[in-house]
Amino acid sequence: PSEKVAHFEKDVWSIFTPLAAETKAINLGQGFMNFNPPDFVQDAANGAISDVAANQYSHPKGRPRLRKALADSYSPLFGRELDPENEIIVTAGANEGMFATFAGFLDEGSEVICMEPFFDQYISNITMNGGVPVYVPLRAPAKAANENISSHEWKLDINELRSKITDKTRMIVINTPHNPIGKVFDEEELIEIGKVAEEHNLLILSDEVYDRLYYEPAKQVRIATLKDFWKRTITVGSGGKSFAATGWRVGWLIGPSELIQYSLAAHTRVVFCVNSPCQEALAIGLEKTNQIPYFQNQIEAYTKKRQILSSVFEELGLPYTVPDGSYFILVNTTKVQFPQDYPFPAVLDSRAKDFKLCYWLAKEIGVVAIPPSEFYSKENRELAADFARFAFCKSDDVLEDAVKALRKLA
Ligand code: GLN
Repeated sequence: PSEKVAHFEKDVWSIFTPLAAETKAINLGQGFMNFNPPDFVQDAANGAISDVAANQYSHPKGRPRLRKALADSYSPLFGRELDPENEIIVTAGANEGMFATFAGFLDEGSEVICMEPFFDQYISNITMNGGVPVYVPLRAPAKAANENISSHEWKLDINELRSKITDKTRMIVINTPHNPIGKVFDEEELIEIGKVAEEHNLLILSDEVYDRLYYEPAKQVRIATLKDFWKRTITVGSGGKSFAATGWRVGWLIGPSELIQYSLAAHTRVVFCVNSPCQEALAIGLEKTNQIPYFQNQIEAYTKKRQILSSVFEELGLPYTVPDGSYFILVNTTKVQFPQDYPFPAVLDSRAKDFKLCYWLAKEIGVVAIPPSEFYSKENRELAADFARFAFCKSDDVLEDAVKALRKLA
């Protein structure tokens, strides 16, 4: 194998998603829904499957109807008239959009600033494209070991970020709402980051796949709309997160034509184009959101889900970070006792304690969570050893069942 992949450890999803199936545990691990996309999106998908043109290749930039729907939906949010011809491309999930952007902008040895914890795919996407991830931490206050905190209390030290910049730095990756913390960066924080990018002429890649999922009083602020940052920012979005269709693999990039042309160049040579009928269905879905308050209703539903799941951590006295966005709760598991001599599989040997706790939790408590040390560099893995990430993008009854199962920890 190539050295690019030979060093990969088995990824956390390939361990815990099969474990959920095998143990029949309630799966609050990988962030996917156990419910369908809304009826109007399902109907649109059924229609698209019988439409001759919608079953063939799309334009590499994406189907015109979807780019138009994205421009209509996002122009007001970006405070500018987005040009569907030149400022939006549809990608095979947000993930491929990011891969294509790394491919389009990194040379061998180019450095990319990533906040730690990070969504794990960034790192392999960077290294497969010759880049080098450089980490800067988001830190929780010390009291987080004993009490609940707001995700907003996780902070970036801007001087620390500045200290990581070298003449090889090309890009800063932002993730807001953040996976796994649920932090929604505020305007002031984004301006600080943007200014550093400006000072050093860096590209900003803003992963905003959970942009439609933020909870009062938090609000989604887009760095591309602040100051003069539009011209150096590519924003990443996700149809899967917005419409409960994570398996459709339809995402998008929004940014100035001078930048996204390079993502497009790489994207065209990686996948050429994206799953056409699903693009068509999401176009129709987005159009519909102009007539019905779909996103508002979804936020209300998720606010309730967050409440259902977090109630059990209250009961158990396990401190957690209250997410302002996304659908994850990061829980401090220090108080959970589990046998260290449990028959853990060898694949966990090299991993931090959180992998073992999550394995035991699946087997004995019947709930799957994700060990967040996957979201840290090897050097800093131990920082996550006493945490677990629970996803609440599940139907309320499943969340209630998870609550009952987790009570066994009392
Ligand atoms: N975004 C999803 C999560 O964090 C995982 C996506 C993936 O499996 N690569 O749960």
